[in-house]
Amino acid sequence: MAQARIDIICETCGKEFTHTKICFNRKEADSYEEWAKENITVCPDCYKEACRKFEEKKRRKALTGNIMKRAWKIAREGAEKFGGSPREYFRESLRMAWGEVKETASDLKGSEKQITWARKIKESALAMLFAGMKPEFVPEAIKLANGKTSAAWWIDNKDMFDSARGVGRAIKG
Ligand SMILES: [Zn+2]
Repeated sequence: MAQARIDIICETCGKEFTHTKICFNRKEADSYEEWAKENITVCPDCYKEACRKFEEKKRRKALTGNIMKRAWKIAREGAEKFGGSPREYFRESLRMAWGEVKETASDLKGSEKQITWARKIKESALAMLFAGMKPEFVPEAIKLANGKTSAAWWIDNKDMFDSARGVGRAIKG
């Protein structure tokens, strides 16, 4: 056994940190050190932060995509009811779709930190749920979702919110 050990300066925050790895023998440790010098460029803290940002971006993209789907649904319904093309209704529909999600996600109980996190989870979950739903069922879904007032509930159940069906099941339970 041999330990690979190199000192690296983080290219994001400038902090110096030591990276170590147990290798099978010295030769492997040496070649690992060579590899690490080229490839490990950020410290564990900055790496974690970069991962968090990536996840946040992914979540944001999914949220926006679902809001768009929902907005088109409202726009199509408007066009069917009042005539014209869905495109003419889209701008207002988008505003409405965001409004539904934001308003519904705003009423939660818990610590400030829990509420901030739970609100994001709830926004994503609702956007996904509403995206595939007929507009006439949305008020009932909002009522059910608002029955779950505890921020902790949204955080604890977040793994169930990977599909519209999952969200529906969770808020009904
Ligand atoms: Zn760093």
